[in-house]
Amino acid sequence: MTITDNHVHLDLINDDIKNIINRAEEAGVTNFVVPGVCGFPNKLNELLKYEEVKICWGIYPKYAEDSKLIETKIKELENTTINLFAIGECGLDKRFPNLEKQIELFKKQIEISKQRHLPLIVHLVGHWQKAYELLKETNSNFILHSWNGSGEMAKEYLKIGAIFSLSASILKNPNKLIEFFKTIPQDKIIFETDSPDQKPSFVSGEQNEPSNLPVIVEKIKELGFA
Ligand SMILES: [Zn+2]
Repeated sequence: MTITDNHVHLDLINDDIKNIINRAEEAGVTNFVVPGVCGFPNKLNELLKYEEVKICWGIYPKYAEDSKLIETKIKELENTTINLFAIGECGLDKRFPNLEKQIELFKKQIEISKQRHLPLIVHLVGHWQKAYELLKETNSNFILHSWNGSGEMAKEYLKIGAIFSLSASILKNPNKLIEFFKTIPQDKIIFETDSPDQKPSFVSGEQNEPSNLPVIVEKIKELGFA
């Protein structure tokens, strides 16, 4: 089996990128989508050495109030020749203040993704309805990262073209997952580790890493994926 880790912060895992990729490839994980949280990922020059690494650019909602930083990061994006895979991760997060500024930053990135014909990688903690309205209105091509919303919400997002990316976080709520599988066609579902975050209890080590993806996918599929 060869699989893609659709959301993995290779730059934030505490080890050499080479070692992380080697362990992952031994486990059958052959492609890595690396989102940016403050512009480009860190360790960019190192990441660019690997053809199997897909680079994204994005600004996390945590930075929404820092207009100077946002301006600098957008300038960096405008001046780069790097081949981007997606815009993200970006979105809305109820843990951070100033929803208005978050919306402004999110809209800006939706716009960039449309201009560049790139998919958007969306990070959502709460604010499901607000994000839905923004994405619906702009008719974008987007991936909902680490999805764990309700079945009802999933149905609505499906109508506006969402791709759902599942991580180990969905395993905390098996009933929600079973309901989700009844609602969403399999070709709209992809998988991720969200490493170094979201380490499930059934794997060893201090942080999550992409070599864990096959066992995470297996556990998810046990709950109703055909
Ligand atoms: Zn992330």
